[in-house]
Amino acid sequence: MPSYDPANIFAKILRGELPCHKVYEDDKVLAFLDIMPRAPGHTLVLPKAPARNLLDVKAEDLAAVAAVAQRIAKAAMTVFGADGITVQQFNEGAGGQVVFHLHVHVIPRKAGVPMKPPAIEKEKPEVLSDQALKLAAALKAS
Ligand code: 5GP
Repeated sequence: MPSYDPANIFAKILRGELPCHKVYEDDKVLAFLDIMPRAPGHTLVLPKAPARNLLDVKAEDLAAVAAVAQRIAKAAMTVFGADGITVQQFNEGAGGQVVFHLHVHVIPRKAGVPMKPPAIEKEKPEVLSDQALKLAAALKAS
C-alpha cells in the first residue's frame, strides 16, 4: 500500500488550507459536509491523525471516528427528517476510495429515494452552510 500523502485534499482541509462546511470538531475528529452530496446532509467523518484508510489507521483513532459517526447519524435523523442512514467507507482505489485520508460517509436516507451517483453535482455553498449550521447545533445539543 502507498504511504500517506499529506498533499491530499482532506489533509489540506484539516490544516485549514482549504475551507469546509464543518459540523463537528474535537481533538481527534473533524466532520464536514460532502461538497457533492449523495443525499442532503451527506457528512464525512475524519480522524485528525494522518491515516490513508482502514488498513493503516490506529484503532483509537478509528474508535473516535466511529463514535462521532454514530452521533452524527442520530442527529441527522432529526435534522434531515431521515428514515434511515447509510454509512460507507472505502479503502484503496480498488475499494472505491478517491481521497486518501480515511473518512466515513454518513448519508441520511428517505424511504424510496435512491442516492445520487457519486461526485456528480456540487451543492450550492449557501445550502451546505445552512445544513452544516443545523447539524452542528443538533450535535451540540446531543
Ligand atoms: P471516497 O474517497 O470515499 O470515494 O470519496 C471522497 C468523497 O469526498 C466524495 O464523496 C466527494 O464528493 C468528496 N469530496 C471530494 N472533494 C471534496 C472537497 O474538496 N470537499 C468536500 N467537502 N468533499 C469532497
